[in-house]
Amino acid sequence: MPCCKEHERTGVAVGIGVGILSYFNKWSQERQSNIQAPCRIGELFLYVLVGAVAGKMAAIVPDVLEPATSPHHRNICHSVTAGAAIVYGMYELGKTNVYPLAKAALMSAGASCLAHIGEDAGTEMGVPWLCR
Ligand SMILES: [Zn+2]
Repeated sequence: MPCCKEHERTGVAVGIGVGILSYFNKWSQERQSNIQAPCRIGELFLYVLVGAVAGKMAAIVPDVLEPATSPHHRNICHSVTAGAAIVYGMYELGKTNVYPLAKAALMSAGASCLAHIGEDAGTEMGVPWLCR
């Protein structure tokens, strides 16, 4: 069973990846109106930092909501359905005009929660489709 630290490490890695993708998505949109829009390394670093922090914090949310007090603790917050709801939320968030850095943080948090569910799904106990 992955522990809190493992989920946090994964969340940081996922958050960094999402932060990088979010910055380059924003930059590519800027370049559609201004082809000479510069790639700002400081801003990229900020996106990576925000993604890493959001990813680390969100990585343990399923275990905060359903603490590992028994071998059968995984319920709806660890379910495939919860993962699908997160994916849907991220899809809808992607279509909004939320401030790009906030969107990067929320996307990192969502991807980190998904990674948590994915890690738990790979264990012997697995995760439920909806609930146990
Ligand atoms: Zn868990």
